[in-house]
Amino acid sequence: ERRAALAASTGPGVTSDGHKVPLLANIGGPSDLPAALEAGAEGVGLFRTEFLFLDDSAKAPSEDKQVAAYREVLEAFPEGRVVVRVLDAGADKPLDFLTPADEPNPALGVRGLRTLLDHPEVLATQLAALARAAEGLPVYLEVMAPMVADRQDARAFADACRAAGLRAKYGAMVEIPSAALRARSVLQEVEFLSLGTNDLAQYTFAADRQVGAVSRLQDPWQPALLDLVALSADAAKAEGKSCGVCGEAAADPLLACVLTGLGVTSLSMGASSIPYVRAALAAHSLADCERAAAAARAADSAEDARTAAQAVLAAK
Ligand code: PEP
Ligand code: MG
Repeated sequence: ERRAALAASTGPGVTSDGHKVPLLANIGGPSDLPAALEAGAEGVGLFRTEFLFLDDSAKAPSEDKQVAAYREVLEAFPEGRVVVRVLDAGADKPLDFLTPADEPNPALGVRGLRTLLDHPEVLATQLAALARAAEGLPVYLEVMAPMVADRQDARAFADACRAAGLRAKYGAMVEIPSAALRARSVLQEVEFLSLGTNDLAQYTFAADRQVGAVSRLQDPWQPALLDLVALSADAAKAEGKSCGVCGEAAADPLLACVLTGLGVTSLSMGASSIPYVRAALAAHSLADCERAAAAARAADSAEDARTAAQAVLAAK
């Protein structure tokens, strides 16, 4: 019954005192749109465009094929935001025609934006397809790059977007600790940040996200990870820009409150989590979230951080 009530909940993400936190959907392609719309997503916060490249890992999809897929997604949220991530190939998402086969540590090698900068024609085609797909639509398009390490990466991506004539906001994913540590510098080149907490945890703790034996270190409640979220959110605030979260962390209702308290400005997640996160935010004020965030950051383990945040939010 509770599930049914939650699933029926609608409306934007907002704390009990009216602080807005847009709730967006992570999607892998047009087939994920019905669930996102049903959950009342306010837009798409992470469109993983890899799916288009998986059909034929021997070559990139044509520009026309990409335009059709992007347009379908953009048309689903005529008034909303759609954040498209350019191709994130390599490491856990290898593509035969792009990913070097002989790297000893693929997660530390040529992947994400690094792959695209080595294959500028693939990036240029994708950006040109996005520009065409958005033509004539009122949608608020944002385009972001995966695996941005520093300002130089962010500039190279922004330059490619400009060269493609893309009318959109350009952003950087924060998935590497260097980008969080120097977030203000990265923000000189782009207009928003989006924290990919799955990879950010992997690179902060030197713990492969595909290795179950080190999953303890992949826990997004780890206080070190919360510190990097806070650094990024503070930098965005200082620059008058936004900083969302699109990793798995955003799908945990309690952690979503903590992330809000840390200053994160939007939360993107698998559609099925949206009703639970909406309900958790609605039950707490921004000040409650800030207190929970401070308590979590004062802890010395993921488990203690969770317990401390829970105690703050249950006690109010
Ligand atoms: C992440 O790393 O948190 C992220 C959102 O990207 P992906 O899971 O696709 O690597
Ligand atoms: Mg990632």
